[in-house]
Amino acid sequence: MGHRVEHVTVGRDRVARRTSPEAIIDGLSGATFLEARRRGKYLVFPLDSGEAVMVHLRMSGQLLVAEAGAAAPPHTHVTIGLDDGRQLWFVDPRTFGEVVVFDPAAVESTLPELAALGVDPIADRFERRDLVAAIGGSRGALKPLLLDQRRIAGIGNIYADEILHDARLRPDRRADSLRRSSWARLHDSTDRILRAAIRQGGSSLGDAQYVDLMGHGGSYQAEHRVYGRAGKRCATCGRGWIRRIVSGGRSTHFCGVCQR
Ligand SMILES: [Zn+2]
Repeated sequence: MGHRVEHVTVGRDRVARRTSPEAIIDGLSGATFLEARRRGKYLVFPLDSGEAVMVHLRMSGQLLVAEAGAAAPPHTHVTIGLDDGRQLWFVDPRTFGEVVVFDPAAVESTLPELAALGVDPIADRFERRDLVAAIGGSRGALKPLLLDQRRIAGIGNIYADEILHDARLRPDRRADSLRRSSWARLHDSTDRILRAAIRQGGSSLGDAQYVDLMGHGGSYQAEHRVYGRAGKRCATCGRGWIRRIVSGGRSTHFCGVCQR
């Protein structure tokens, strides 16, 4: 942070699909990064120009810092040269991710989904009552509610499964059927699983797409109790078998014995 952008190249228009390559180049050139923030699954970097850069990595995106002169890997769609010679690369083989330079005062029109994000369990104060307020009144199933970014920001498919397992709640359990003790467990599990995953650098699966700025993968995948373990014995209760179902189009894993 505190570094000025000296040059910018955008190699693939799709990464700039919401605006244009020129909008990224013009918005970043000469600007200084003030800080790095995360809200839900969005990375936001305020600039000294008053604008900000949003980066969403989606499924396969990586944001990497490289030393001066390093050769960019394949699928590097945005290269940002900093005043100390280092480079910031946005690499994304599948190009589902995107980069947007926007005016925070106009976020509702430019990035409506960023403006509409729900409570963030890590970035915000997150008490049990905040969890209940976000999803408690719904007749819907817990799993899709945890994934609904407008209600709670930042929980992805892997962590929704691990949180529900830790809380001993079935993914298809209706939110409005939970008692007070279940809300307490679900709140504790959300907090514990997300913080443990962050501590361990996230989950890098077989495709090794999830890495930090230095290119290092996470290790939380070794802690998964249900995600990716379909057909295996439940390590929590030792009696059930992990089942995989598709719920709301998303692969969902749970133990039918210890999750109710
Ligand atoms: Zn079990």
